[in-house]
Parts: sequence; C-alpha cells; structure tokens
Amino acid sequence: MENELHKRDHIGVQDFVLLEDYTNPAAVIENLRKRFTENLIYTYIGPVLVSVNPYHNIDIYNQEIIETYRNVNFYELPPHIFAIADAAYRSMRGENKNQCILISGESGAGKTEASKKILHYLAASSKHTDDVERVKDRLLQSNPLLEAFGNAKTNRNDNSSRFGKYMDVQFDYKGAPVGGHILNYLLEKSRVVHHAEGERNFHIFYQLLSGATPLLISKLKLSKDPEQYFYLSQGKSVRVDSLNDQRDFQDVKHALDVCDFNKEEQEGLFAIVASVLHLGNLKFEEDGHGLAHITDFSPVETLAKLLGCQEEVLKSALQNRTIEAKGEKMKSPLNKDQALYARDALAKGIYDRLFTWIVHKVNDSLTRRRRLKCSLMGLLDIYGFEIFGVNSFEQFCINYCNEKLQQLFIELTLKSEQEEYQREGIAWEPVEYFNNKIICDLVEAKPVGIITIMDEECLRPGDPTDQTFLDKLSENLRLHPHFVSHTTATDTAVRKSIQRDAMSQTSNLITKSCFPTSELLGKKRPETASTQFKTSLAQLMEILMSKEPSYVRCIKPNDYKCSDMFDEKIVYHQVKYLGLMENLRVRRAGFAYRRPYEVFLKRYKSLCPQTWPHYDGPAKEGVEILVNYLNYSNDDYRLGKTKLFIRFPRVLFATEDEFQL
Ligand code: ATP
Ligand code: MG
Repeated sequence: MENELHKRDHIGVQDFVLLEDYTNPAAVIENLRKRFTENLIYTYIGPVLVSVNPYHNIDIYNQEIIETYRNVNFYELPPHIFAIADAAYRSMRGENKNQCILISGESGAGKTEASKKILHYLAASSKHTDDVERVKDRLLQSNPLLEAFGNAKTNRNDNSSRFGKYMDVQFDYKGAPVGGHILNYLLEKSRVVHHAEGERNFHIFYQLLSGATPLLISKLKLSKDPEQYFYLSQGKSVRVDSLNDQRDFQDVKHALDVCDFNKEEQEGLFAIVASVLHLGNLKFEEDGHGLAHITDFSPVETLAKLLGCQEEVLKSALQNRTIEAKGEKMKSPLNKDQALYARDALAKGIYDRLFTWIVHKVNDSLTRRRRLKCSLMGLLDIYGFEIFGVNSFEQFCINYCNEKLQQLFIELTLKSEQEEYQREGIAWEPVEYFNNKIICDLVEAKPVGIITIMDEECLRPGDPTDQTFLDKLSENLRLHPHFVSHTTATDTAVRKSIQRDAMSQTSNLITKSCFPTSELLGKKRPETASTQFKTSLAQLMEILMSKEPSYVRCIKPNDYKCSDMFDEKIVYHQVKYLGLMENLRVRRAGFAYRRPYEVFLKRYKSLCPQTWPHYDGPAKEGVEILVNYLNYSNDDYRLGKTKLFIRFPRVLFATEDEFQL
C-alpha cells in the first residue's frame, strides 16, 4: 500500500503541502497527473481531499477497504474518500461535534459519486438493528429516487445532477444512523421544456416510457416511444449507452416502496410525469386576429383526467390569461407565443413542485421515530461554477452560491488553522488572501446589490423588461470593480396566471398539495426566485457554519468522459476556480507538516540511539531529543502542546531519506 512519503518521485506526494514548489500551479498539476496515471485519484491539501475522476471503476471501495479505513488516523493510510468520512464520523462521535462534508467541483467531476461513497461508508460502518437497517435503506434509496427526477444526461455528464442537495444524516449516541433530512436547491426546471442537442430531459421521463407495464402506459395514455414527445426529443439523443432506463425504472419503483410512497401516491406521481409529456405535445395555431387556439384537443382531455381538473377550465387557462383591473378579474386571450410560453410555464411549474413534494415525502420517511438527541453529519453536493456561451438566471444563482461557499471555505480554513495554532500554543503568523466578500456583496448587498435591484424591477408595477433591469444595474453598479452587465428573461404575469387558472381545482392529490390555495388566490406576497434562493443560501450558510466542515474538491481530468486522458489545461482551470492554490498557500503559510508526537516518534525513533531501541519517556520529550539529534534548526520546527510542526517539506524528506538508508 502507498506509504505517506515513500517512492514520492514516481507517484508524486500524497499531500500537496509536501511540494517544495507549492506556489507553482504547474507543480501541483504535475503531481495530480503522476498520481492519476497510477490510479491514485486522491491527494490531500492538509485535511482537504482532492479527487480526480478516474472515469473507470477502480477496486478501492470494497468491504475490505472499508474495514481498513475504519478507526485509523487518516494520515496513516493513503488518501481516500473513506478516510475523510471516517475522520468526520469519529470527530462527530468522539468530540460530539456536528459535521458537514462539502463536496465541490464542476459538472462531471465526481461530486455525486463521492457523496454516495461517503453515505455507503457511513451505512457500512455502523451497528445493525432492524430500525437502523430500515433507515439505512431509505437513506441509500433516496439517491436513485432523487436522481431519477433531478438528474439528466447533459453533454458534460450522463448523470448530471440538476439540483443542489444538502443531506443531514442523524446518528444516535451509539453512532447508528437513525434518520435524515434533505434540503434541495434550485432545480433546473427549464430542462423540462427545453434541452440542448445531445442532452436529455430528466431521466424519469425516459425511464417511465421504457420501464412501465403496458397497463400503466395505457392508463397514462402514453406511447413507449420517447421520440413522440416534443419535450423528450429535442436533444436527438433519447437513448444513452451508459444508462439502462428500463432497469432504472425498476430501481425507482423499488426506491418509492422503500421510501414509503403508497400506491395512490405513486399513481398520482406518474400521472403528473405523464401530464408534462402531454402538455408538451399541445400545439397552437393563430387565428386571423392573432389569437391562439389549441389545434388538437385530445391531449387536453387526457391532461384533465390525469390532473383531475375540468377540461373546460384547463382549455381556457391554456388560451387566456386572467388579469385584474380595478379589482375585477378579466380574461384576456393569448397570442401563440404567449400560449406556448404559458404551456411551458405550467409544465415547469408542475414538475418543479412535484420534485419538491418528492423531497418532502422522502424527508417524512427519514424522520426518526424517537426524538432523542442526535448528532449530525451533513453532506453537500452542489453544482460548481458554470460558464456557458449564453448564461442565464440559473448560472447566476449557481455561481453566486459558489462564491458564498468559497467565502465560507476560506473563512473556516483560516479559522481552523488559527484555532489549531492557539490550541497548540504556537504564535499565529498572519496570512494574506483574496477575500471574495466583495463579489458576494455585489450580488446580495442592500440597498444596491444585483438581487435587490432585480426584486425591485420584478415587483414594480408598469412594464419592467430585461432592458429596464439592465439599465438600473448599470446606473447603480457601474463603478463596482467586478460588475459586468448580465440580463435575465422573465414573464412573470403569464407564468402566474396559467398556474393560478389551471391548478385551482385539480384533484390529483399531489398537485393539490403542491399548489396551495392561499398562494393561487394571490394572498401571499410573491417572492422572486432570486430572493428565495438568497434566503435559502443564507440558511445553508448558517447550517454549515454551525458544523465542523471537511472538504472534498473534485476535478475532472478531461471533457470526454475518458479514463486515460489527463488534460492539463482543463485541470489547471479547475485548480484555479476551486481556489486550490489559495488553499495550499494558506495551509503552507506556517507549517507544512504537523503530526502528534506519538505518530512522529513511532515512525522515526529508530534514527536516534537515545530513542532506540528503548525509550519510555513522554512522546513530546522523545521528539525533542530526536529533532535535536537530527539537527533541525530552530526555525524549521515548533513544538506544540500535542504536535510537532515542521515548516518545510525538505526537512521532513531529509529525515525520511535517513530513515530509508
Ligand atoms: P454534476 O455536477 O453534473 O452532477 P458530478 O460532479 O456530480 O457532476 P458525477 O455524476 O459524480 O459528477 O460523476 C460523473 C461520472 O463520472 C459518473 O457517472 C461515473 O461514471 C464517473 N465517476 C465519478 N467518480 C467516480 C469514481 N470515483 N470512480 C469511478 N467513476 C467515477
Ligand atoms: Mg452530481
């Protein structure tokens, strides 16, 4: 097995802090490359795990390896995702601290796989009783379920998560999982109605068509051929080699059973999935006055049945909008573009709420039975920075979220460094770093931040447009050093109108609970999507701040999902955006290496006649004798309360070389 400092030329170093040339990105990338070539996909920066997607299965996650990592200090074994999980689990239990593991990286880098491996490790390493087994089952089954509804094939990843996810696993005082809770963030609902060439809609649509029994297919009035549906066929890639929709549908059915969705709920759920497909096939034509008319009413009839609403109400809602003038409600007919927009808005709205409803249901099934105090381990699998040719509101939110997480990361890393120095009684040496608070402020500051200005524009009477919004932004923010103009398209009025009119009287048990009457009647003050997102992010930050964090930074080696290609340019880009160089600099600012006295002494005591073959004094004194004997200079190291701190890797390597002789 790979040893911490052994054979370092060939396989690189296990911890980037051991790189002499640590400020040079080329050295960092070369180290990653060496290790990737050897199938060593994990490397540390101190306590942070960097993971490179191998794009093929490596046999390093089996039961034997789980046992190897259990209860072992993580620097005693090669870097591994299990080591991170184990360290967090033991800190949770031993020090009674709630934990969170933050997993970041761009699409396809391996975040979701990493989070599943952690969950698997946690499930495999705890005691078994029937109750615990049931909880574990549900925790594990929540993944295929949410992935079916929230993941899709994109050009970057065949199983791309199109939502952010934070999951708390709750443990009892014995360390057994007893419950869980999931928070979901911003589903990419635009995918319901549109996806790019080479991509697909959410998996569940294809799974349903491919895996449902003939009886269910006919009940839902569906065709088994995805090409028949406008919402499924735009990407011209309805079949994906790496996916088996038919088998996955059976897994989803199983997951629904395990997570306690009863028969009626499952029926309601598939009825909604089907109704989205029928909606997408509605076509409109324009009459001589420019007004939209549905060309074929048969999908409307089916839709009304599936959603449990009146056909006439639905028909009218699809061709008109309700406007309020002087307290009176009036119907105003839509033109063709508006009708298509309304149709898509309804499809997106229904699906988005369905997704949230599923998360709530899963949470119900994960609610622990007995309200005893528990410890928490949170897992955050959230979308990384995204920059496309055309960037929309969704990229704005995603990147804002990443700025917040980066800020938290830097703050907490510095804080924990400082705390360790303090605990060990070593003088703190200040570190300079780029504080991205200025960017977060640009987005969220009041009264002049992007979100506040967007809110004002969205909610003001009159006729706000993308252009008026852009003008306001420029007017207020043009002097900000990080401001570059950005627009977003919304047509709030039509969207709200269709949801209110079409969903007011449904009897499908899911849509009924997803569209609460109070909201449809307009009694609640509307909140813009960006403010909702900002609020939920602020809550997430609070949750994360209250816990002890661990980090997994995922990197993808190339853009081709290819197992033997390491594209340095692409890796460099990610190293930069993940802030790894900054992280490494902060970590190296003081001391590269630190180990408990016992660990250091155990490894090197044979190098000194006073500690070998016999030494039974305190470990700290033994280490003092050892470093004096090895001629460490005063500036090379510090003696903390429980640990030895070594400033430069070369000192350690010299010691190691001596040891190897
Ligand atoms: P997104 O942001 O698009 O959701 P992601 O970071 O969650 O991306 P994953 O879905 O975890 O990416 O990984 C993409 C694919 O890469 C997986 O489907 C799998 O094929 C492969 N992969 C990721 N991690 C590993 C691993 N540790 N071992 C083997 N294959 C992996
Ligand atoms: Mg993912």
